[in-house]
Amino acid sequence: ETFIDRVSAAKSLNAVLVETPDHALAAAEATDKAKAAGETLGKMAGVPIGMKDLFCTEGVATTAASLILDGFTPQYESTVSANLFKAGAGMLGKLNMDQFAMGSSNETSAFGNVISPWRRNDGGNTDLAPGGSSGGSAAVVSGRICPAATGTDTGGSIRQPAAFVGITGFKPTYGRCSRWGTIAFASSLDQAGPMAHDVRDCAIMLESMAGFDPKDSTSLDLPVPEWESGLKSDLTGKRIGIPKEYRVDNMPPEIDALWQQGIEWLKDAGAKIVDVSLPHTKYALPAYYIIAPAEASSNLARYDGVRYGMRDLPDGAGLQDMYAATRESGFGPEVKRRIMIGTYVLSAGYYDAYYTQAQKVRTLISQDFDKAWESCDLLLTPTAPSAAFGLGEKTDPLAMYLNDVFTVPSSLAGLPAMSVPAGLDEQGLPLGLQIIGKALDEQGVFNAGLALE
Ligand code: GLN
Repeated sequence: ETFIDRVSAAKSLNAVLVETPDHALAAAEATDKAKAAGETLGKMAGVPIGMKDLFCTEGVATTAASLILDGFTPQYESTVSANLFKAGAGMLGKLNMDQFAMGSSNETSAFGNVISPWRRNDGGNTDLAPGGSSGGSAAVVSGRICPAATGTDTGGSIRQPAAFVGITGFKPTYGRCSRWGTIAFASSLDQAGPMAHDVRDCAIMLESMAGFDPKDSTSLDLPVPEWESGLKSDLTGKRIGIPKEYRVDNMPPEIDALWQQGIEWLKDAGAKIVDVSLPHTKYALPAYYIIAPAEASSNLARYDGVRYGMRDLPDGAGLQDMYAATRESGFGPEVKRRIMIGTYVLSAGYYDAYYTQAQKVRTLISQDFDKAWESCDLLLTPTAPSAAFGLGEKTDPLAMYLNDVFTVPSSLAGLPAMSVPAGLDEQGLPLGLQIIGKALDEQGVFNAGLALE
């Protein structure tokens, strides 16, 4: 009830699109009953969480923060939300986000931006971006409005917002969490993951979210490890790689200082620090911004005014006119930009020059990581090249894309990666450190994160 009250009291943050208090209460009541009957409780028993509005929730409006899905109520539950509910979690509400998860600031939402609960300590009144695309999730966890929330990460959308608001966010190995029932952005990259206050909460929540699902052809047919009981912060024998290519130009000195501090903390926990090179890092961002829009343009072809949500049917319009009118008024500008880029790079004349080339770069980036794993077990980097910026401050799309420079390479390689809060900048804003692990080594990532807490 406390959290339900907080959700309705926190409207000024614009983080919650639909409140679902009954769902959260029902989970709490079911937990009380199960307790009274002496039954074994699920890992998430009674925990009320926020749900990013990219997850289809049965009987609860789901929009991906786009007008084109206005009026869409799924008749099915996404596998990830179903898994969480099976483990006993309840849902407090559906959370605002960047439209179709495209963005780094939550400003592409059709329902207005989310406002970060944080302020600079300069006495000014600048409203800050909570990061994106999981900006609603970041805001509700950091504002203590929900104890945890789901996020999705295609190129950094769990890790960057987590860093911006001082919480922990975990993107598992590609394939750990089923994508079934999660609205698709770029299918070869999309992964769900937890956003919570600390490493232990993320481990508990991910255990409940993950697992093989025959309904997703890229789902990993592997048992879900018991990450929580495997947590330990002693890193004796672990080698942590510091990739030199992540020392980018114009990196604010406080981010560099934080990185050095992180190195010291990991050394104190028993780890050995080694320098490594990921030579193709600088091509990751351009490759991502070809591959992700290409897949998005294909995935978003389904929104045609017939099958889901809104329909714009001008007087006397035929079928083609209806498609065009629906897509014109339903998609926001960033989504249209991605569809345009995506269809361009996939078009017959440019496919080889852009799309095929980007796929080759993706392979080189994966091989960089494989090579690095010969000399280290985990990588430590900053999560983002800056602290949270002000809403409306970044108007150039390219400047916005540059914010993903540290999160995108591990996404292209499908590797597990986590952002942990590691300190504050001189304005009093949170900064995050990122741990990247080998495929399937979520445990290693969690443990290094624990050592940083
Ligand atoms: N900011 C990146 C983009 O806009 C990542 C988004 C995401 O991870 N969903 O594509």
